[in-house]
Amino acid sequence: MSWKITAKKGLEIECKGWEQEAALRMLYNNLDPEVAERPEDLVVYGGIGKAARNRESFEAIVETLRELEKDETMLVQSGKPVAVFKTHEAAPRVLLSNSVLVPKWADWEHFNELDKKGLMMYGQMTAGSWIYIGSQGIVQGTYETFAELANQNYGGSLKGTITLTAGLGGMGGAQSLAVTMNEGVALCVEVDPSRIEKRLSTKYLDISTDSLDEALKMAEDAKHEGRPLSIGLIGNAAEVHHEILKRGFKIDVVTDQTSAHDPLNGYIPEGFSLSEAEELRESNPKEYVSLASRSMAKHVEAMLEFQKRGSVVFDYGNNIRQVALDTGVHNAFDFPGFVPTYIRPLFCEGKGPFRFAALSGDPKDIYAADRKMRELFPDNEKLMRWLDMAEEKIAFQGLPSRIAWLGYGERAKMGLALNEMVASGEISAPVVIGRDHLDSGSVASPNRETESMKDGSDAVGDWAVLNALINTAAGGSWISFHHGGGVGMGYSLHAGMVVVADGTKNAEKRLGRVLTTDPGMGIARHADAGYSKAVKAAKTHGIHIPMLKE
Ligand code: NAD
Repeated sequence: MSWKITAKKGLEIECKGWEQEAALRMLYNNLDPEVAERPEDLVVYGGIGKAARNRESFEAIVETLRELEKDETMLVQSGKPVAVFKTHEAAPRVLLSNSVLVPKWADWEHFNELDKKGLMMYGQMTAGSWIYIGSQGIVQGTYETFAELANQNYGGSLKGTITLTAGLGGMGGAQSLAVTMNEGVALCVEVDPSRIEKRLSTKYLDISTDSLDEALKMAEDAKHEGRPLSIGLIGNAAEVHHEILKRGFKIDVVTDQTSAHDPLNGYIPEGFSLSEAEELRESNPKEYVSLASRSMAKHVEAMLEFQKRGSVVFDYGNNIRQVALDTGVHNAFDFPGFVPTYIRPLFCEGKGPFRFAALSGDPKDIYAADRKMRELFPDNEKLMRWLDMAEEKIAFQGLPSRIAWLGYGERAKMGLALNEMVASGEISAPVVIGRDHLDSGSVASPNRETESMKDGSDAVGDWAVLNALINTAAGGSWISFHHGGGVGMGYSLHAGMVVVADGTKNAEKRLGRVLTTDPGMGIARHADAGYSKAVKAAKTHGIHIPMLKE
């Protein structure tokens, strides 16, 4: 049966208020074919990251949002609406919990069983919390990561370097553009030609080929000319990386964004076509996981060999090192994760992936917001450079949106400014403000966001719970708590936050609170772990941390 959901735009609403309408529109937006990777299966991104459990639940959520009063709250359990309660106007309209399992049962095997029975769904991060905005959502973070890598290793630019990676999916697709934005050459191995087509059509990727020789020649030429270029190479990374090593071809940077976090659905074993993989996944999932894990181990061995030969190698948050370790690669963790290496200093200041979407569907609203950011933060050079590039290179997917990494203080300032712009009519309809779960105070994920914490608190999950609780108390519009996002079952706990700027006084109060508590938690979490940068930020901003050490 054909089934198509498209982003809803315009000024007319079908719900009883803009806040409920915002949740409805962002749910639709997550499933727009321009945005979602496999909308017919409700899959938004990240392997099997879904927006609703099944079509029936999707319809029920939509129906409930249409009827929801402005002093009621809908509860969503792993993509299914399960209750509506009277709360109050400043409370969230929706509270969501996705894929949360009791720790002893928190593995893929148990989850897949429940998923099959229709009792659960995998929410990934922004898929199940209705604030995915397409690949742009990750472009700036990826750009920031490669910019920091260039600062640390190549004097501030990737010019004249080749980055080898794999996976051009929902988020991985941002890698090619982020590398060329940093003036480098990206060689991206992707097993599914349709993913390559999608990145070419949205201009995230420059060119594609199925010939390794041709790809290497193009990469080499561009490197010598100092010309940015991104190449999509159709192939399986577990095989291609070893081929490149055999030829002794010099690669400068190596990383990976296949969906290694989900061995059953996210990684194609070597030697398998897509349809053969699909068949085996259905007929013998155990065998599939075993073959995929062995291929991932081989893939990681290649990454380790590149590191030995002098490449800068890092894990890009997909848990591939863990799978390799579990499959016998004892030194899989010899290369570091991207958070401790490039991102944590930003987290210490509450800086993270602030994002917003224009519910009108009118790109002019985003350009007006861009102008506002330029006016409010003229000294933030990185942000100014990002806005120049984003306006030129980012094609909107679904509802027009913008991502901008902002810190404590900046987020509240921008949120309140957006609310004023909605109130004055400078922006034509309300704006939804949210963020990725990958943020400074919202995740516990020992192989990613909280890898190698200074005080060893990598696996402490309390922080993510507190983040969801304080943002609920502060009056976010929809708040979510998830398990397993990014790195898979058993490896992470994390919270999402969305708040709507509808131009009202009520929204003004809630925005001011939530956009302060949320990044404030990031500073508190890192100050507690002993990071001096976070301690300094807490003092500068006057964040009250009772036992703050000097
Ligand atoms: P996705 O499932 O949309 O894409 C994964 C891609 O990998 C697919 O296109 C698939 O065809 C390809 N692939 C699978 N096996 C392959 C193989 N053997 N060789 C080559 N290509 C192969 O997932 P996504 O949303 O792009 O996320 C990718 C991974 O990155 C996930 O594990 C995700 O959790 C992680 N991630 C990273 C960040 C970050 O900031 N770096 C943030 C969030 C998530």
